[in-house]
Amino acid sequence: MLSQPLSKVLGKKTADELIRQGLLTVGDLLHLLPRRYDTWGELTELAQLVEGEHATVQAQVLRSTSRRTRGGRPAALMEATVTDGASTMDIVLFGGAGLMSHYAKQLAPGTTVLLSGKVGLRRGRRQLASPRFQVLDDLSEDEREALLARPLPIYPGTDALPSWKLAIAMRTVVDQLGDEDVPEPLPAEVRAAHRLVDALTAWRWIHCPQDEEQWRAARRRLRYEEAFVLQAALARRRVEHESTHAAVAWSLPGPQSLRADLDAALPFRLTAGQVRVGEEIATALDSTVPMQRLLQGDVGSGKTLVALRAMLQVVGAGGQAALLAPTEVLAAQHRASLEHLLGPLARGGMLDGAVRATRVHLLTGSTPAPRRREVLAALAGGEPSILVGTHALLNESVQLPFLGLVVVDEQHRFGVAQRDALRERGGVTDPQALPGSQERRTPHLLVMTATPIPRTIAMTVFGDLDTAVLDETPGGRSPVATHLVPWEREPWVEGIWRRAAREVATGGRVYVVCPRIDVTDEELTDLAHGSLGVGADEPDTAGLEDLVSALGEDPSPARPLAAVTEWAERLAAEPALEGVGVGTLTGRMSPAEKTAAMEDFASGRTPVLVATTVVEVGVDVPGATMMVILDADRFGLSQLHQLRGRVGRGDRPSLCVAVAGCEVGSPAYHRLKAFAETLDGFALAEADLELRSEGNVLGAAQSGRRSDLDLLRVTRDARVIEQARGEVQAVIARDPGLEHHPDLAAAITERLDEESQAYLERA
Ligand code: ADP
Ligand code: MG
Repeated sequence: MLSQPLSKVLGKKTADELIRQGLLTVGDLLHLLPRRYDTWGELTELAQLVEGEHATVQAQVLRSTSRRTRGGRPAALMEATVTDGASTMDIVLFGGAGLMSHYAKQLAPGTTVLLSGKVGLRRGRRQLASPRFQVLDDLSEDEREALLARPLPIYPGTDALPSWKLAIAMRTVVDQLGDEDVPEPLPAEVRAAHRLVDALTAWRWIHCPQDEEQWRAARRRLRYEEAFVLQAALARRRVEHESTHAAVAWSLPGPQSLRADLDAALPFRLTAGQVRVGEEIATALDSTVPMQRLLQGDVGSGKTLVALRAMLQVVGAGGQAALLAPTEVLAAQHRASLEHLLGPLARGGMLDGAVRATRVHLLTGSTPAPRRREVLAALAGGEPSILVGTHALLNESVQLPFLGLVVVDEQHRFGVAQRDALRERGGVTDPQALPGSQERRTPHLLVMTATPIPRTIAMTVFGDLDTAVLDETPGGRSPVATHLVPWEREPWVEGIWRRAAREVATGGRVYVVCPRIDVTDEELTDLAHGSLGVGADEPDTAGLEDLVSALGEDPSPARPLAAVTEWAERLAAEPALEGVGVGTLTGRMSPAEKTAAMEDFASGRTPVLVATTVVEVGVDVPGATMMVILDADRFGLSQLHQLRGRVGRGDRPSLCVAVAGCEVGSPAYHRLKAFAETLDGFALAEADLELRSEGNVLGAAQSGRRSDLDLLRVTRDARVIEQARGEVQAVIARDPGLEHHPDLAAAITERLDEESQAYLERA
């Protein structure tokens, strides 16, 4: 029944119009949910009507006519006069000529009718223009009362197909539904546990409710179903992956290991979180079940070291590990910090290398060809080493015969498709297999993100991953004092540059971040929406902002937004900064230029760096003590937090200055206040979601087409998602193949179809 074409069950005109809107089947139509529900409401006497107010009246028709309009659109109108015995009023409806004459007949003199609309005044008489109406003649008194109480579903209608027509079509379809027609993805015990109505009832009640309780119960049930199917899809994906792929188990030979050597050489102690997460990962790596883990940790929580220890476990046992970063700058930085942490342990095969040692290779678009050939040969030869590069490495034909672990850093968008791609190409020849054996193993996967992901999003977008959280930062990191400066306070703005000069004079470094590169540019947040960031060199600045892009907000500033080129010039000429070198860094520069810019900044040749959000993610210059964000109101909370994380990395106190021109009380103002008041990235991420609570985090409905999530809102329905996740795990534990849950299996397949995957990717 659900797959029946609408043309079979509805009139041709209606069906054609629905098809034009992309709704082909009964099932498609059912999924078009009412936006809200109206009721007829309290009846008002005609004499009591107030112009401009919305009212419902019961009246009898005195006379009615329809006629064509003069050469106009709409083509015709119907006029009627009605009375309640005491007073009279007029009615007018507009539309096609046929429909209008039909209405005039329906509203023949003597007919009793319910009318609802906004009271207007025309030629001194009260009038309802385009009211909703319902003929009451054939209804008993009881039926009339029930009708008045009944909620009226309001659909997202169009001119061609207004809400009330959709309501009629829906009733036609719903009336024909039987128990066998609608699938029931929710197991009976889950429905019972959460007191949810069955699927058929839900579809009936959402479209044709008798009272408010019914549509509320229907919504609750359908919302739960969405959460349940989504979680089931993720759980199934995981089970399937684990049953069809095997990884190599990399064991840790106790104190005689590369990892232990590193631990012994570290100038500091691991934090409790690093130890705990490290052990979880170590156990997972020592198993043939492929690890799929998301490591979250605020900026500066020491994720790199966690990753390095994991990579050493693999490399120490003869495998290869890859660390992928979203940009070349970050990749180069990672290589540098890994080598720094490793010291002699990174100089395998060299005179000053340690006894047990490895090598860290960097492969990016700017690696010179001879060096590239050398690295490729070493890796293809199976050298147990660490390879650092951008995500582009995934697409390239780099041979890593013993690839045992892939670490993906700072990447929100390393979504489901990337994980699948990795499995497809990441096959490893099992080093423990017999020589000549062609058995392929999949690498373990560790995804790291510094943009804290609120729990519900983690459960939804990364629901097929285990998650681990580093919830403390290593001692020694100083809290970053944050100040808001309004553009209008010019003396304050000038004060920023005097402060910057002082920071530089005492050995500090200063970032100045702008939302644009050139004065003529669009905002960068718009530039950064590239593909999945694979190989792109502008990092995915948006992060959470992307997840919630549904909610646009445009303060339309009169002042042009700060641009890198403009501010680099202004600061070079700024008296307070006389003699201080000013550099620039943008995504438009070549990788070599970027590296040079970062080096000049770190070394102090240009201790002031005017940049775009390229510096947002992962950039690590310990001497940086001041972050100035111009037009800070143009950035999202998580982005601001990332930017602030670029300072306070050394032992000197650092500060962050957010310069903005937003109005007190505006959403941007609240965001900036939240930013200035809290340093906890997770709290900020939650606040970010709340401030945007109306946005459907998982993508807005596509025009005309059925959206993937109809009722579920990740911002609001955390509890539902969590409950569903728990129930799903129980169901799948009992019935991993879902043989006893065919409707659920079918719903999952539907959810995991191409379109759904595309939407998971978008998030
Ligand atoms: P993030 O999680 O932002 O990637 P990093 O891994 O870059 O953080 O670590 C930030 C800094 O803290 C680095 O300089 C790193 O060497 C240092 N660090 C990491 N772990 C510890 C620790 N346990 N004690 C002290 N410093 C640490
Ligand atoms: Mg990092």
